[in-house]
Amino acid sequence: MLSILKGIKELILGMTITGKHLGRHAITIQYPEEKWPMPERSRGIVVLLSDKETGKLNCTSCMLCMRACPTAAIFIDAPRGEDKKRQLKVFNVDNAICCFCGLCEEACNFTAIKMAPKYEFSTENKEELLWDMHRLQEVGRDVPYEAKPKKKPVPKPAPKPEGDSTGSRDTAKSAPVPNPTVDTPAAESGDQEDNQTGKEGEA
Ligand code: SF4
Ligand code: SF4
Repeated sequence: MLSILKGIKELILGMTITGKHLGRHAITIQYPEEKWPMPERSRGIVVLLSDKETGKLNCTSCMLCMRACPTAAIFIDAPRGEDKKRQLKVFNVDNAICCFCGLCEEACNFTAIKMAPKYEFSTENKEELLWDMHRLQEVGRDVPYEAKPKKKPVPKPAPKPEGDSTGSRDTAKSAPVPNPTVDTPAAESGDQEDNQTGKEGEA
């Protein structure tokens, strides 16, 4: 009898809690039909960005992102062509070892690589996590971005005057500075002839 009463009490308590939440807005969604909008600065998959007008990759093959990557997830091959410019042949990102740190995006000065707010790339085959530049570009096509302001070139220092190997400061140091308050040995010895010659030269 006691256990029946306890059961009824717990049932009423449970129904009360359920009743409280019946009128509330649901906080869960039916994924994958429904998806949360990702925050603008969320770190999802790494993608390559393209020029919106020409469709060309923004990447200049400088390789700074590859050097900045702490897990060696980025591999770039860009040999120099006949015009001495780098030609981007391979740009791979291995998502199996990427730790989503965002250092590659920070290192890039050309707004060419970005942590996109995309996260649906799970697969049963690990090899499919290795993305080449075509896939990276394709996934990044609709990713909005603002181009980083270009850095101003650092002005070159003015060339030194010819024959001045020591620089103007050194020249100033080595040149004797006349001090009118100190008597010269000539003046001390009363060598009027030398002084007179100097005055004549000035005149
Ligand atoms: S993505 Fe950016 S940092 Fe990486 S190689 Fe291209 S231009 Fe350089
Ligand atoms: S997010 Fe980090 S680990 Fe992933 S590719 Fe960029 S630098 Fe490498």
